[in-house]
Amino acid sequence: MASYKTLFQEKKNQNWLKASVAVDITRKGLIPFVTTVVTILHQAIRANVERTNCLPPGATCNSCTTPNVLPCRTRGFCGGVRSLPCKFHQHANFRNCPARICNDFKLGIEGHHRFNGPSWKNTNANDWCFNPWEVAKSFLPPDGYLNVQTADDTDINGIISLIINCTVFDNYFTCDLSLLHNICTKVRDIGRKLRHSPQLMMSDAELSECIDALKMLLKDNKYLASEPAAMDALTKLTLLENDKLRVSTDDLANVLSHAISTISEILKTEKNILQQHIQTLADEAVQSIAQARKEDNLELYSLKSTALKHDLQKHYLERCTSLDLGPMFDLNTPNLVEVYMPPKLSKSTVFKDSSDSSIGVNRNIVLTEIKELDEVFRNTGEQAKHIYITAKAGVGKSSFCKFIVRLWCAFQMNNREEIESLKSRGRGTYMNSCEELKNVQYVFYARLIDWRSRLCEMDDIVFYQVIRRLSKCEDYDMKFLREVLDKERCLIIFDGLD
Ligand SMILES: [Zn+2]
Ligand SMILES: [Zn+2]
Repeated sequence: MASYKTLFQEKKNQNWLKASVAVDITRKGLIPFVTTVVTILHQAIRANVERTNCLPPGATCNSCTTPNVLPCRTRGFCGGVRSLPCKFHQHANFRNCPARICNDFKLGIEGHHRFNGPSWKNTNANDWCFNPWEVAKSFLPPDGYLNVQTADDTDINGIISLIINCTVFDNYFTCDLSLLHNICTKVRDIGRKLRHSPQLMMSDAELSECIDALKMLLKDNKYLASEPAAMDALTKLTLLENDKLRVSTDDLANVLSHAISTISEILKTEKNILQQHIQTLADEAVQSIAQARKEDNLELYSLKSTALKHDLQKHYLERCTSLDLGPMFDLNTPNLVEVYMPPKLSKSTVFKDSSDSSIGVNRNIVLTEIKELDEVFRNTGEQAKHIYITAKAGVGKSSFCKFIVRLWCAFQMNNREEIESLKSRGRGTYMNSCEELKNVQYVFYARLIDWRSRLCEMDDIVFYQVIRRLSKCEDYDMKFLREVLDKERCLIIFDGLD
């Protein structure tokens, strides 16, 4: 007797089980009623199809499948616009029913759906002519009922949804089922509350509210109040309420196993949501790490490249200070910054001259005087990639290289005194325009005069002839040098390259 009390120790768990038993009693009490109404619906749709198409009574079709009856892109059946090609219409396309039944049958179902949204995924059009419950399934919730064959196998959520969604049921209730809240939506909400209680708990107040709502539905005057199965259910609910109902172990086991499978479905969904959430968090973490790593690399590069610049300057201040006047001069080597006077430079431009075709193409070299230092670094307005400075031996090519290097150092260190000193001996306006050199970020100056190595790659020469000679050379590897050469504006001077 009342064994739901012995299954659980906790009152709230007992309440939950009692409510579940009550809902199942109500569900069973409604089955004959919904079966009757669905049969009436089925007959009405069939009669209408026969009338519209002038078919003999009892005409059937068993050759159309659901994809045959629904045009592709039907809402609630095919996927969205993005899921092309449609997997539901892969093997069967929409067509007109050869027996002139199924297309109008579909319209009949739609016409009786309160929200004009039949659950096509639940139903099999092939069986519409023969099985009223197959038609009823179009009025159930959108998913999960395809294999439910009878009203008996349908849960309370399905039964109540059928009553709410199918307008034929309007004729069997005193209240207005089209309202947002009515006696049926109340029962649907109770079913939801039971299913979404993973701890299988219900308070006394909730239990009493639940049984009241179920009784209210079964007591509806229009039809159910005098329907035998509904009346029997109402009696059972009253006995249950007063703990006088004998509930069979089978019934209890059914209620429990159904509840557990529903809850584990919910937990599975929640697990998926949790997994997605964790995945999102993990992705974000990976992105942040990558971003931080990128920032670290940038910071490291910035530190290293600044250090390299200082090392280069220090190196050039030591190596490019004295003017080498050659063996003819018996003088203490003079300081470049103090005495050096930049030479007169001319730019050679080669013109192709093909005016006299009899002797082929002539090359005319035209020399123009360089009036500004910037001209050295430019070639017809563009930045020059390669600059060759040629002159007879001993006229001061190396000194000019050193001068350029020291001027760069002075610009970089913003040493005004030295800039003025170096500029002051320019010829006329020669040194007024030094923008190109000012904008150079790195100067790599290599003297190749005594150099016997076979290195011929530019990177190698810079690395072995410049970087390796710096005081902190071990801080800079080839990879870093290449990064600098790639990213920064660099001037590489090879002195003595023949
Ligand atoms: Zn489709
Ligand atoms: Zn058909």
